[in-house]
Amino acid sequence: MVYTPFPSIRAGRPPTPSALREAIELHLKYDLAKQPSNATLRDWWYATCLVTRDLMVERRLETFQTQEYHRARRVYYLSMEYLMGRLLLHNLACLGITEECRQALQELGLELERIAEVEREMGLGNGGLGRLASCILDSLATLDYPAVGYGILYQFGLFHQEIVQGYQVERPDEWRELGHPWEISRPELAQKVSLYGELKRSGLPTDPAQWIATTEVVGIPVDILLPGYGTQTVNFLRLWMSRSSRELDLEAFNRGGYFEAVREKTFCESISKVLYPNDKTEAGKELRLVQQYFFVACSLRDILRRFWRENTRWEDFPKKVVIHLNDTHPSLAIVELMRILVDEQELPWDRAWELVSETFSYTNHTLMPEGLEKWPVPLLQKVLPRHLEILYALNHRLMEWAEKRFPGDGDKKTTLSLIEETTPKSVRMANLAVMASRTVNGVSRLHSELLRSRFFAPFAELWPDKFTSVTNGISPRTFLLMANPRLAGLLNRAVGGEWVRDLEKLRGLEELAEDSGFQAAYLAVKEANKVELSNWLLQRGLGSVDPHSLFDVQAKRIHEYKRQHLNLLRIVALYLVLRERPQLNVPPRVFVFAGKAAPGYDVAKRIIKAIHAVAARVNSDPVVKNKLQVLFVPNYSVDVACRLIAAADLSEQISTAGTEASGTGNMKFALNGALTIGTLDGANVEIREEVGEENFFSFGHTVEELQELRRKGYQPKEWYEKDPLLRRAIDWLFSQECLGNESPQALEPLRKALFEEGDRFFVLADFRPYWERQQEVDVAFFNRRRWAKMAILNTARMGRFSSDRVAREYATRLWRLSPLACANREKR
Ligand SMILES: *Cc1c(COP(=O)(O)O)cnc(C)c1O
Repeated sequence: MVYTPFPSIRAGRPPTPSALREAIELHLKYDLAKQPSNATLRDWWYATCLVTRDLMVERRLETFQTQEYHRARRVYYLSMEYLMGRLLLHNLACLGITEECRQALQELGLELERIAEVEREMGLGNGGLGRLASCILDSLATLDYPAVGYGILYQFGLFHQEIVQGYQVERPDEWRELGHPWEISRPELAQKVSLYGELKRSGLPTDPAQWIATTEVVGIPVDILLPGYGTQTVNFLRLWMSRSSRELDLEAFNRGGYFEAVREKTFCESISKVLYPNDKTEAGKELRLVQQYFFVACSLRDILRRFWRENTRWEDFPKKVVIHLNDTHPSLAIVELMRILVDEQELPWDRAWELVSETFSYTNHTLMPEGLEKWPVPLLQKVLPRHLEILYALNHRLMEWAEKRFPGDGDKKTTLSLIEETTPKSVRMANLAVMASRTVNGVSRLHSELLRSRFFAPFAELWPDKFTSVTNGISPRTFLLMANPRLAGLLNRAVGGEWVRDLEKLRGLEELAEDSGFQAAYLAVKEANKVELSNWLLQRGLGSVDPHSLFDVQAKRIHEYKRQHLNLLRIVALYLVLRERPQLNVPPRVFVFAGKAAPGYDVAKRIIKAIHAVAARVNSDPVVKNKLQVLFVPNYSVDVACRLIAAADLSEQISTAGTEASGTGNMKFALNGALTIGTLDGANVEIREEVGEENFFSFGHTVEELQELRRKGYQPKEWYEKDPLLRRAIDWLFSQECLGNESPQALEPLRKALFEEGDRFFVLADFRPYWERQQEVDVAFFNRRRWAKMAILNTARMGRFSSDRVAREYATRLWRLSPLACANREKR
């Protein structure tokens, strides 16, 4: 690659537009072999990214030197998923050169925003969990914490969703098709990992064993630089790509001939091929287990390599290394570290456990039983025989501790055990993570409380000090500065620009909440965003909407617990009422849905079908024209999220109480001035507390009330029979009038879930309170000044939900990590 000199950078000043222009042209020529006359938009995008990367590299090298010099304690954030979104505008903003770059491109006759839109999103995650990981890494760099993210470089990210005749169709997400200028490949740091094979041993399970006749896989790391906002610090995300090495091919060739060699090569390359598109439910598939192990084994070897570069004694390991487990997906790291210490380093078992139990921290992300990972013992026996043995040995210790603490209490031991006595037996990864981690946190106050009191109750008795809570947050860069430039501009003028690094500064808006001039400006921003979204929807053929309507948005994974079907039933009920009384005075509403369903989750896919069926009837009925519209935006992604949150008036956060661990979508909308209609679930509880009850539309049964309903024997049929409006809505939704030409079976699985299967998520029980609260929303929306005040106060009071606060809490309370800024820190 050509060297592009930026003398002005080293002097601590941003490069001028003309220096940037020159650098873009150099990259265009020497990296892409193109001239301005034949360059495509893609070429310009690529060259602009490379220049941006050059500037980040300068800072990365300094960050590296600083951290190495201080032998910094670092956190290693292990996550199977990251939902990074597009990076160009974000990286430019972090470097503080957005305007310079815009001008440089202008001089070339190009527009920055159009160039940025060429980029394919890095969609290496399913949803909230992956996006949280990305937000936390963004904040750790912004706050100068020494941190490395580890993950997998999936060749195919989360599937691309298309809608064909109202049904979701999944297509492969070929996100690297246009090349990926952000990647820095590090073949020199490749790692070798073993799988399958058998054990050779002489002593006890706690003695060193030999794992032989294994299949070898190579992991090649690819780095993505992660700049902090307004600081010199640049951290990185290291993603592993699986390969077989040529040397290994030859071995396989000698063993089993050509076909064996090719088979093994194909197997090795398949490991990092595709992200499992499951949200909350675990597939329990062999390749997924292999993927998890490949990921943690490569990452651990890399962590140990860095540790030994800077240190000389094992006892310093827990002082220099914190390994964070983002959910249980990377929890095999615990067992792998035990194996390395006992088998390869020949440390005594107890000493190894001491080191391991000082090193890990674990975040739990779900209360749903189907979300808790379990691996069948026979599968572990086949893929990771030594690890299974270590798991049994660890469980033996755990049972000893349990017997000491709860003598004779068999039930307690059964719930604590790492092994579940199903047929076949399985290993509970959450129990392992809790047992081995110094800290275990939930992601909202309610969720952490439920973890402690219900799901991990005996663990909390055994180790009360482990359990803690860190409520999730979102990056103010991604979800306000980037997502909503108009609002960001207004906020800068109102309270200054410091909120980007300190979101609590938005408190300053409180005193403007009743200022009619500010209210008008604030509403004008929302209006402009709604016009922009309307145009975007129109261009994509998704519908033509009136920007003066109330934009009512539910955007998130499609899941029964998130209850898109509750929203839909309310829409149907409103439609039926409006058909009878077209003059009813309600504000016109546009209902927008977006979200992907896991490909194997039938009921969720039927919910998508149901939304489209309702949309087809409602949108074509002249009686409700200009009153009611239903849209589905396909392929929900960070980009779509940003467009929707900037334009939304109302945010639907209506999960069954006790099911959504936190939610982060709820925070994005509220920060951008959408009011929330929501249940007392996850972080909704805390958002409502912060913004004030009078600025939040809460409804529905609480966790305790639902428990009581369950206890008494919840009968959805009774709720159906006693509420005529609900009955009409349900009858219509499942009638041929709604289905049109579709087969009467099209929505049958959804109907069954609500009746025959007992409505696990209490849709029917929450219908009436939801309906009533929505009527209050209508009234509030008519009063523009009152609405503006409520929305402004939402923006003003969301400071607590910055991922900067989250990163600081993890760093200080869980990781005991200190910030470490580069020496000649640049003030910008
Ligand atoms: C924030 C976000 C999510 C999580 O949304 P929830 O409402 O918390 O479920 C999922 N997907 C994308 C693309 C997001 O940006």
